[in-house]
Amino acid sequence: MTTRLLVTGGAGFIGSHYVRTLLGPDGSPDVLVTVLDALSYAGNIANLGPVRGHPRLRFVHGDICDAPLVNRIMANQDQVIHFAAESHVDRSLLDAAAFVRTNVGGTQTLLDAALRQGIAPFVQVSTDEVYGSLESGSWTEDEPLRPNSPYAASKASADLLALAVHVSHGLDVRITRCSNNYGPYQFPEKLIPRFVTLLLDGQKVPLYGDGLHVRDWLHVNDHVRGIEAVRNRGRAGRVYNIGGGTSLTNQDLVNLLLKACGADWDSVEYVADRKGHDRRYSVDASRIRRELGHAPETDLGIGLNATVAWYRDHRSWWEPLRADRAPQNG
Ligand code: NAD
Repeated sequence: MTTRLLVTGGAGFIGSHYVRTLLGPDGSPDVLVTVLDALSYAGNIANLGPVRGHPRLRFVHGDICDAPLVNRIMANQDQVIHFAAESHVDRSLLDAAAFVRTNVGGTQTLLDAALRQGIAPFVQVSTDEVYGSLESGSWTEDEPLRPNSPYAASKASADLLALAVHVSHGLDVRITRCSNNYGPYQFPEKLIPRFVTLLLDGQKVPLYGDGLHVRDWLHVNDHVRGIEAVRNRGRAGRVYNIGGGTSLTNQDLVNLLLKACGADWDSVEYVADRKGHDRRYSVDASRIRRELGHAPETDLGIGLNATVAWYRDHRSWWEPLRADRAPQNG
């Protein structure tokens, strides 16, 4: 049976990877994909280049906050994977309202339409940043939400609204909370593509504060596999953390990037820390492993080298985007 799948934000970094995977040789032949994307500064139709013209892909250029449009599109869908968001923490410190509009208002618009249509499941793609920052241990899905940036607060709000629609109205909502992703086609304002593109140009990279902030990194392939596990086998009303199990300080990460780009620490400039910068993230991803059999497959060293190679080989993709990147890394 064919499944009609609405993918919001499918022209962004992770959403486009998801669409290219579903429509690729190892994808799902039974899925008809409709991408709804506003093509914000982070959205790029070129990210869907490899599947352009695919008979099972339709692209709609539009805003998830546009209720009449969303209702019209949703009337012909069975399932939703909701990626569309304002996603850059630094931008949320400069203009939080845009994050509330898209991440909170846009999600509610989608949920209202999904409820009317009887969508099942509605997968809300969220982030581990909703948990805040922790000194030791790892967050399970039962951890209270203590978001610190406007970005994280807007994603936490969206998660709570989605769960409320499940509890109040029985909509089959499933939430994924993933750690930091890396891979090809990531907009060059985020830490890894920003640093890689600067290093490839022989420029210095700006490292926040003391560089000892700790993050977990996951290849986008592994995130996409996790989302598919949740879409196909997850439970309604359930939250699933997704993580790479690769705890690294930013300094350690930069070390790997310098090596992969053939540069050294002379290329690093320490800059003032980001306001309210979360010190440490760590997700406990044992639920998705136990219940859905999902575990990361991409080794961090191999994945980073492949990512650097992709940016080296795809200058024509990232050079035009650099004028748009935010003043700091993310
Ligand atoms: P991205 O910024 O690369 O892409 C976001 C996409 O959403 C873009 O194509 C943009 O055009 C689109 N969009 C923005 N506002 C829109 C609107 N109002 N209507 C329709 N489309 C709109 O983001 P990403 O890194 O691919 O992240 C995708 C999702 O995954 C986000 O919800 C993010 O919170 C979540 N997430 C990201 C990471 C990460 O490391 N990048 C980690 C965990 C979770």
